[in-house]
Amino acid sequence: MAELKLSESRDLTRIERIGAHSHIRGLGLDSSLEPRGVSEGMVGQEQARKAAGVILQMIKDGRIAGRAILLAGQPGTGKTAIAMGIAKSLGHETPFSMLSGSEIFSLEMSKTEALMQAFRKSIGVRIKEETEVIEGEVVEIQIDRPAVSGAASKTGKLTLKTTDMETVYDLGAKMIEALGKEKVQSGDVIAIDKASGKITKLGRSFSRSRDYDAMGPQTKFVQCPDGELQKRKEVVHCVNLHEIDVINSRTQGFLALFTGDTGEIRAEVREQIDTKVAEWREEGKAEIVPGVLFIDEVHMLDIECFSFLNRALENEMAPILVVATNRGITSIRGTNYKSPHGIPIDLLDRLLIITTQPYSEDEIRKILDIRCQEEDVEMSEDAKQLLTKIGQETSLRYAINLITASALSCQKRKGMAVEVQDITRVYSLFLDVRRSTQYLMEYQKEYMFNEASMVDSGDA
Ligand code: ATP
Repeated sequence: MAELKLSESRDLTRIERIGAHSHIRGLGLDSSLEPRGVSEGMVGQEQARKAAGVILQMIKDGRIAGRAILLAGQPGTGKTAIAMGIAKSLGHETPFSMLSGSEIFSLEMSKTEALMQAFRKSIGVRIKEETEVIEGEVVEIQIDRPAVSGAASKTGKLTLKTTDMETVYDLGAKMIEALGKEKVQSGDVIAIDKASGKITKLGRSFSRSRDYDAMGPQTKFVQCPDGELQKRKEVVHCVNLHEIDVINSRTQGFLALFTGDTGEIRAEVREQIDTKVAEWREEGKAEIVPGVLFIDEVHMLDIECFSFLNRALENEMAPILVVATNRGITSIRGTNYKSPHGIPIDLLDRLLIITTQPYSEDEIRKILDIRCQEEDVEMSEDAKQLLTKIGQETSLRYAINLITASALSCQKRKGMAVEVQDITRVYSLFLDVRRSTQYLMEYQKEYMFNEASMVDSGDA
């Protein structure tokens, strides 16, 4: 026990991928919440950005719970981009979680459980804790999920970062052997006396809530030469309610916590946590930080989910809910009734609605410029003009998609920059929605199960 075998620190190289919204770094507003022309990757959509800025201020003030905002507008008008802008502008301690309406349909948990978990991931708790600090040679072992790097070691401490599951299991097993299964949980801080190998539980440690999704639960072990605990200091941890639920839910066992595969959490566990957090708040040990829950494609939720949202928003700890949809008047899932955006009127009535507008030629051009920079693509002036025209006549998304494809075409002919010929080539290779529909109309007889009326409706 005294000799813990520590494998060497290993950092995995991360492959930086360019996502659809990787160029968005904020809402691009000045200090009086006025939108700047082109800023933080954001272009145009001034009214919506201004309104989002007001919401951002509301979130930062943190006093208003349970407000809900609807971002409504045509496809590709920047609804998701604005939500990402809000997320990027929030401080590190404000939880932001995001899901798409369709993600709640899973065989592993009920729809309302998935929503409940999303809600609790968006409610932060700042916990103040007194911890003991050990003087002397201290070894801290931190267990991370793969592909996570960063966490610098503190002065005088050696941090071992491991993604080696064998080491994780080995240390977990040693803790269980010394303390008993019941006493070991993910997030425990353990002191291991080097001389005697004695294991003492010092307290709990939580990763910062913002990092949680990437890192998963972590366990810290502290190894000290003499086991003497000497100093005390106050440490503030920021966690979210879902993390506390998971750590305290024993249904899956201690090791399953490393996988993040926690399944459904029992209502009693949540009640206990709520009571505990309420106690901490009264004692001044903790405060609630309402965060943001963003649900994209909200029309995919059904009537049960909408009624859940209605109720959940009434909770005093509720986060700010931001939902987005590109649907017009359509059926509410799970009913035969139609409603604006497929959202029941009683929920719609609670929402502050922000609409997004189609982009002008100049705005499309600026967004394409930003995307070319983001994707590291050199493009000639003429090619950019043509791509802007295509964006105007088809859609912004289609034009953005052509950037990478045309860069490949340019690479193939060993060109230095994307030219008009590359754009025309990929334009003829990949159809946009209108041309694809036209093609289907012409050749529908050759396809199976053709129903011309479906093609007409477009938004099927
Ligand atoms: P949908 O209704 O189809 O989900 P959406 O309104 O959510 O569409 P986005 O996905 O936000 O549209 O926008 C399409 C693409 O254009 C994304 O890559 C997005 O980052 C970019 N984009 C949209 N609006 C802006 C903007 N105002 N500034 C910069 N980039 C933008």
